[in-house]
Amino acid sequence: MVTDIFKRPLQALRISVIDACNFRCNYCMPENEYPRNYKFLKKKERLGFPEILRLTRLFVELGVDKVRLTGGEPLLCRDLPELVKELAQIPQIMDLSLTTNGWFLAEQAKALKEAGLNRLTISLDSLNPELFRKISGGKGTLEKILKGLQVAREMGFTPLKINVVVQRGINDSELLHLVEYFRRPEYIVRFIEYMDVGTLNGWRLDQVVPSQEIITQIEKKHPLEPIGGNYGEVAKRYRYLDGQGEVGFISSVSQPFCGSCNRARLSAEGKFYTCLFASQGLDLQKLLREGASDAEILQSIRKCWQSREDRYSEERTDQSSDQSSDQVKPKVEMYHIGG
Ligand code: SF4
Repeated sequence: MVTDIFKRPLQALRISVIDACNFRCNYCMPENEYPRNYKFLKKKERLGFPEILRLTRLFVELGVDKVRLTGGEPLLCRDLPELVKELAQIPQIMDLSLTTNGWFLAEQAKALKEAGLNRLTISLDSLNPELFRKISGGKGTLEKILKGLQVAREMGFTPLKINVVVQRGINDSELLHLVEYFRRPEYIVRFIEYMDVGTLNGWRLDQVVPSQEIITQIEKKHPLEPIGGNYGEVAKRYRYLDGQGEVGFISSVSQPFCGSCNRARLSAEGKFYTCLFASQGLDLQKLLREGASDAEILQSIRKCWQSREDRYSEERTDQSSDQSSDQVKPKVEMYHIGG
């Protein structure tokens, strides 16, 4: 197992299989920055499935046992079940999951399950159809996503994780509605503090709703108790005392968790990023396509991780996160590395 400067092991790999997305969520890919005809990577500019497989096998040799497929919107890759099938056959991968906006879920859930996918996370920021549409940049309809959830459950994907990015003044007034709707064992809602990912979502600290505020709100109606988490787990988990399942909180702003961050990211064009807020990545596609050997690529990844000292969320300052200032830290855009 390879560890970084802070002895954090490389255990979890997030693979962005495509940078494109059919939604334009304001906190990730704002419509005004990514118009309808925005030029995303061409197929040959992205890693092909055989390249993703080769790299994943090398990451596994370095200790990775959790793989999450992301995007952009990964289900835009209609042949994704083929990749899932291959990845599911790598014995060291104990957990193979996928994050999606749910738009193509009704059509693809069956094939993903049969291919060997273990878990699904769906981004859903509102149960108000108009607000849902607005947050998705006018692209999504809530009904279609709820249909996708139903089919995914029927295919045996339970519990389904529901990621809610909480933005003050946008969807913070309906959090209890989301809690009530998904408060059953087959769902786990995770409230995510809005983050200054990338450089384009216009993030400000006063738009963040600290998780503790949400916990207090929920506890007025439904008492909670904390559940211990696993090393590297991002969410702080709580169970409802009345047995109606659990709820999670990802608090990168108010309670950073860099200390146990064991996550790496592979972008759609094959760059290896050691942090969600990194400025640059190691170009593994170049190594692959220039004919580097497995040993050479392994050594490059190992060296890169061993010199890793990322802990952006712990170091976040007004300057580094103020996207309007020229001192803002250049950061990779989230849709390139899938959160
Ligand atoms: S800010 Fe970077 S180092 Fe910290 S938890 Fe997030 S990805 Fe890990």
